[in-house]
Amino acid sequence: MPELPEVETIVNRLQADLIGRKIESADLLWEGTLSTPEPAHFKKNIVGQYISTVKRRGKYIVLPLSVDTLLIHLRMSGDILVRGKDEPIHKHDRLVLYFENEHYLAFSNMRKFGRVWFTPTPEDILGKLGPEPLDDSFTAKMLYEKLKRHKRQIKPLLLDQRFIAGMGNIYTDEALYLAGLHPLAKSDLIERHQAQILWRSIRKVLTEGIKRNGTSIDWIYRGGDFQNYLQVYGRKNKPCFKCGTPIQKIKVGQRGTHFCPQCQRREFAHVET
Ligand SMILES: [Zn+2]
Repeated sequence: MPELPEVETIVNRLQADLIGRKIESADLLWEGTLSTPEPAHFKKNIVGQYISTVKRRGKYIVLPLSVDTLLIHLRMSGDILVRGKDEPIHKHDRLVLYFENEHYLAFSNMRKFGRVWFTPTPEDILGKLGPEPLDDSFTAKMLYEKLKRHKRQIKPLLLDQRFIAGMGNIYTDEALYLAGLHPLAKSDLIERHQAQILWRSIRKVLTEGIKRNGTSIDWIYRGGDFQNYLQVYGRKNKPCFKCGTPIQKIKVGQRGTHFCPQCQRREFAHVET
């Protein structure tokens, strides 16, 4: 699933093609794509609106239009393509926006997990998200206080989009490795200096991920090369780059989790099993 660095890369690439475009018509090829509103309302009301910008919030792509806002979540296999009108619609295209120029936007969604919202009140959805980890307002102190308030295992907590927005399985495993924290460490037992290191690690892996245009690994997204810099994710049984110990893979809250049992030792933070 695309995480913050991949969505950020996609957003940056879409800006030139989408900003200022006027929507001439919309086609909904699979109605389940649209979370809200009703298809008829969507197709009627989106016509004539301009795309004012392309932004990201967490893992959402945000398109503020002249009146409403379009939110797109790619989930497992979603992709956004801008094609010339002379190019055909593809098999997995689920929603199409035709512009007044020679192009159209296709939301391709092979496995049908991705969703689109067309709403006058995007805060109803985006307001539930936790802080943006790369914003200046997200401080080490804030992270420490949030960790204290929750009494949960650190890995599932970092994946919880209400706690912090944009982290997924890859960048969470990488950040915990960099911070030397065991994925099962209990959040309220993480000490202040460890929280500071974790804060720095989260920002470092996300920043590096963006710099490398994201990770091209097991989904439709291509073009990034952060997969060549991963320390633990996808490296089960391979030697840790720091200590040589084989990387382990365990299940934490249904999610495959990679870590180094030497560098991320249980006694570094109390661990709940
Ligand atoms: Zn190690």
